[in-house]
Amino acid sequence: MMTRQKLFVLEKRILFIISRVKVPAIAKKTFDQLSHVPEFLGVVQFILDKISRVSSPIKRASIIHKAVDEFNAEVFAHPLVQQFSPCKVGCAGCCHTQVSVTSDEAEVLAERVKEGLQINLDRLELQSKVSEESNTFYQLSYSDRRCVFLDNSDACSIYEDRPSVCRTNAVLGDAQQCLVSGETQQLRLVKTSKADMVIYASFLHSKESGSLPFMLMKKLKEKSLSVVSQSA
Ligand code: SF4
Repeated sequence: MMTRQKLFVLEKRILFIISRVKVPAIAKKTFDQLSHVPEFLGVVQFILDKISRVSSPIKRASIIHKAVDEFNAEVFAHPLVQQFSPCKVGCAGCCHTQVSVTSDEAEVLAERVKEGLQINLDRLELQSKVSEESNTFYQLSYSDRRCVFLDNSDACSIYEDRPSVCRTNAVLGDAQQCLVSGETQQLRLVKTSKADMVIYASFLHSKESGSLPFMLMKKLKEKSLSVVSQSA
C-alpha cells in the first residue's frame, strides 16, 4: 500500500517527466482515468522502481514485456474476451497502425535485425519519415503502412520480442473494422488497464520514444547496420 506522501512525490515526478515524453495515447488515457487509484498508481511506482535498477536496455524491455503479459493474461482469459475478440494469428489490421516504442524496445528490435532478420528497408525508410504524426502516417496506402516485421503469412516475425503496445492490441467485435483506414475506425478495445500502467511507466522512464519505424531506423543507423531488403 502506498502512503499519501509517496503518492504525492510520485505524482510530482510524473508531472515533471510527462512534459518531456510522448506516451502512447491509450496508456495516457488509462493513466489519466485511474492514477487517483492507489492500486493502479502503485503499478507505475513498482515498475519505475524495478527498471531504474537495471542498466541493460534489453533486460529492461524484457521486464516490461513480462509484466504486460502477466497483467494481460487474466484479461485475455476472460470468457467474454474469449467469445467476442476476433484477434488471431494472420489477422494483421493493427499491424498497419502507428505503434510507439521506447528506446529500449527499439534496441531489442535492432538487435533482431543485427542477428540477421530480414526486413523491407525501403518501406521502413518511407514509414520512418512520416510515422511520427498521425495525419501523415495515415495518408500512406494500406500496404505502405504494413509493419516491416509482418511476415508473408501476416504473422509477427518477432512475436516474442514485439513491443508492449502490440501486446495490448485486442479488439471486441468485428475484425473487418480493423482492416480499412486505421485510426478513423471506432473500435472497441479490450480494456488492459494494468498493462497500460506498465506501459505508461516504461515510457516515463525512457529517455527517448517514438514510432516503431522512426526509432528502429535511428537505432539501425546508430549501429551502422547493413539491412537486407526483402518483399514481405
Ligand atoms: S511488431 Fe509485430 S505485432 Fe507489432 S505491429 Fe509489427 S508485426 Fe504487428
